[in-house]
Amino acid sequence: MEITERIDGRTPEEVFYDYRFLGNSRLAKCSEELKVYQTIIFLEELRDLHNLEPILYFGIGPHEAHRADNLKEFYAHNPIEPIETRFPMIETFKYDRDIKSIIENEWGIKLPRMYHLGFSHANCAGRCVRGGYQHYKQLFQVWPHQYQKQEDMEERFRQHFQKNVSILKKDGRPYTLKEYREQILEKLDEGQMQKEYRELLEKEDSHIPCVCTFA
Ligand code: SF4
Repeated sequence: MEITERIDGRTPEEVFYDYRFLGNSRLAKCSEELKVYQTIIFLEELRDLHNLEPILYFGIGPHEAHRADNLKEFYAHNPIEPIETRFPMIETFKYDRDIKSIIENEWGIKLPRMYHLGFSHANCAGRCVRGGYQHYKQLFQVWPHQYQKQEDMEERFRQHFQKNVSILKKDGRPYTLKEYREQILEKLDEGQMQKEYRELLEKEDSHIPCVCTFA
């Protein structure tokens, strides 16, 4: 089949400016606008313009079965007529298969570089606003250039709207990527900072790098 690509044209940052709201692990408008909405209008077009009944196949495995429930629920009720969802990796196999190795070694398709850098998801080039402390620590260590871009984006937004907001939170308050880098990440070799980092992780409410409906 020909692959259809749909694109909104904006970056996540542009969506944040449009909504005057910086995305974070609790609310990521970028995901809704750039991925979910594009999916919905494409599905509607299939029905209305081509008289086709779409079925959505998701390639998520048994270790993410909770996401399957959410997706099933979402497409059963929102926001158009119910759409059938199928999860062959979960329905066919009880255990996770090493799909990445099959894709790369048997099918000869190169995986996105983020997997080789040790990330479990390859979304938005590591700059996912749903990422938590652990994700941004890894980004800082293996792809500092991307961390810096995200830090700059956050600082620009704060400046532009004169709002004390951030992607991460600490004790329920804004905690910027700049603060995180300066206070913790650049000092992780120090024993005290290791302890502080572990404490941050314990308090974190999200350990999921991204839960984009279509990522
Ligand atoms: S991967 Fe993260 S930053 Fe990118 S669209 Fe999804 S929620 Fe937003």
